[in-house]
Amino acid sequence: MRIVLLGPPGAGKGTQAVMLSEKLGFLHLSTGDILRENVKRGTDIGKKAKAFMEKGELVPDDIVIQMMLDTIKSSGKKNDFILDGFPRTVYQAKKIDAELKKLKLAVDIVFYFKTSISTVIKRLTGRRLCPKCGANYHIVNMPPKKQGICDKCGVELYQRKDDSEETIEKRLEVYENQTKELIDYYSAQGILKELSGDLDAKEVYKQLAAILA
Ligand code: AMP
Repeated sequence: MRIVLLGPPGAGKGTQAVMLSEKLGFLHLSTGDILRENVKRGTDIGKKAKAFMEKGELVPDDIVIQMMLDTIKSSGKKNDFILDGFPRTVYQAKKIDAELKKLKLAVDIVFYFKTSISTVIKRLTGRRLCPKCGANYHIVNMPPKKQGICDKCGVELYQRKDDSEETIEKRLEVYENQTKELIDYYSAQGILKELSGDLDAKEVYKQLAAILA
């Protein structure tokens, strides 16, 4: 089964994708994580993507589409995967749909996390991450046991550069102007399921798992 997670930054897509992959064995493909890894390693993709990401703008479609297609193809024929943060434009969606159909891996379901602006801003400004395992924390909603330290790895958590208030504003504007129209695109295909991204992570997961069951 192929799942797309759609919603603004801070809607909880990454958190749900991690839960689905841990509990139900899905492969979690986060475009943002893959791009950040490329930036860290200084690859060609990373060099091209860095400035866009720092400004909160979208990385050009063709770079991202090719990168995700290569990732899917090299994932050892794993047929159950979650696309987290991809597609983000109708152009990306059309292109990847065509490619996935050829591979007989069409998207089955799209979960749209409808989330209020106030939730998103609170979540993003309080988000902290583990540089080693990628675990996601929140200083208020999901704090680590020891302040600033990853529960699993014991290393110091960090804040994403693009989680600054100014860049968050830009990312939300990009979502409104370029990504939101995907709701209509997938709704027209009859595969969109809407959930509230304002609920806490456990409740959202319960709803997701019930739909999948
Ligand atoms: P995220 O981790 O999903 O919040 O993504 C972080 C940044 O990576 C975004 O602000 C974009 O610059 C870039 N990015 C992630 N996914 C995409 C995508 N599907 N298309 C273009 N840029 C993307």
